[in-house]
Amino acid sequence: MKTSESLDLWLGRPVPRYTSYPPATAFREDIDETAYRAQLANIAADKAISLYIHIPFCRHLCLYCGCHAFATQRDDRVETYLSALESEIDLVSSVLGRRQNVSHLHFGGGSPNRLTNPQMRRLFEKLCASFDFSNIGEIAMEIDPRLTDGEQISTLSACGVTRVSLGVQDFDPEVQKVIGRIQPFDQVAKVCEGLRSQGDIKINFDMMYGLPLQSADSLALAARQALSLQPDRVAYFSYAHVPQMKPHQKALESHPLPDKYELLAQEMAGRGVWEQAGYLPIGMDHYAKPEDGLVKAHKRHYLRRNFQGYTDDQADCLIGLGASSIGETRDGVFQNERDLEAYEKKIIEGHMATVRGYRFSEEDKWRGAVIQELMTYMSCDVAAIAKSFGVLPDSYSDAFKILQPLVDGGVIHRQGDKVILTTEHRQAIRVVCAAFDAYLGKIKAPSSKAA
Ligand code: SF4
Repeated sequence: MKTSESLDLWLGRPVPRYTSYPPATAFREDIDETAYRAQLANIAADKAISLYIHIPFCRHLCLYCGCHAFATQRDDRVETYLSALESEIDLVSSVLGRRQNVSHLHFGGGSPNRLTNPQMRRLFEKLCASFDFSNIGEIAMEIDPRLTDGEQISTLSACGVTRVSLGVQDFDPEVQKVIGRIQPFDQVAKVCEGLRSQGDIKINFDMMYGLPLQSADSLALAARQALSLQPDRVAYFSYAHVPQMKPHQKALESHPLPDKYELLAQEMAGRGVWEQAGYLPIGMDHYAKPEDGLVKAHKRHYLRRNFQGYTDDQADCLIGLGASSIGETRDGVFQNERDLEAYEKKIIEGHMATVRGYRFSEEDKWRGAVIQELMTYMSCDVAAIAKSFGVLPDSYSDAFKILQPLVDGGVIHRQGDKVILTTEHRQAIRVVCAAFDAYLGKIKAPSSKAA
């Protein structure tokens, strides 16, 4: 089969990003506070948990943004939210009944560094009073480098932050103008220098392809510029254009968006720079220095994918705090109210803000384990996983029928019931996962295209 024919077997197919299984589009509204309280009360006293905290504010809205984020110039709006967040921390810790040990703390958004320095310190004090961080492995925060100065870096360092993810996307001034995010290279370089010299904080870059005015050549240049700043990890995401859900993205339609072949060329251009420089590919869109924790987790087979991307965190319970945050236990996922005012009202009235989620069935568990293995290792011994769940081959034979054209087209290899993705078709991984997704086609929701 010709390469173009093989590509057409998967390229451009709309499929979920599989940060969870079932995907968030399958969450149900019949999961509420009572269900979540019961889950929290069941967490063993000696178990370390993972915490996710959502800060949904930014100074300005980037036109490509797909996050649950709001632009505000008002510190008092942030203050109201922070008060509710503190009350939620009190609520959760009272249900747990102890200062639960935390192995991993992640702040996402929005831009968590939209908090002022005093607000940041206050939030950390509250967290330390409510949880035990004496064995913490990592405190990570997504930050907007345009809001970062020396004083903020000192605050992050004093609060114990060990890793930050810098929203970079691209260094091209024309692209930055079109996407509404002016952020010169020197500004990012200065923040990196400060994070290393003042704080000894590890640095991730979030970069993006598929935006207007980008090309394979321009993205290779952006990757080389980023490389000169030596990030410890890079997440190289494709832009998801979903104006039906994020109307501000419509503004990007005044320039043509790349077709699926161009998108793949852009992905390969960036990937080539990182791999040639010695960064190792992790999952479908991360690259890390050989000494990075994700590489170690990959080699020792405890790498995982969660709502924040790839992680070396091994806790089997994640507690989400803040509007729209998602918690996960062995039994299911539990999402907070997304609307800010509704979230704050529930919390202030003394209720948890859980409004949707999913209780895993036995079938969800084995299918989720297969998808998790594929997304992290680009291969999966389906029979071994099925056996560990007591599942018979009949249950997954349909998935192999769906995958047969990909085997014939050289996109994947099949050894017995083991699936191995070929390096050339690495970006087909989500389409391979989709063969094991029992919800696909049953839910009407936009998905991003595989590339
Ligand atoms: S800084 Fe990040 S979260 Fe905030 S608007 Fe821009 S892309 Fe969205």
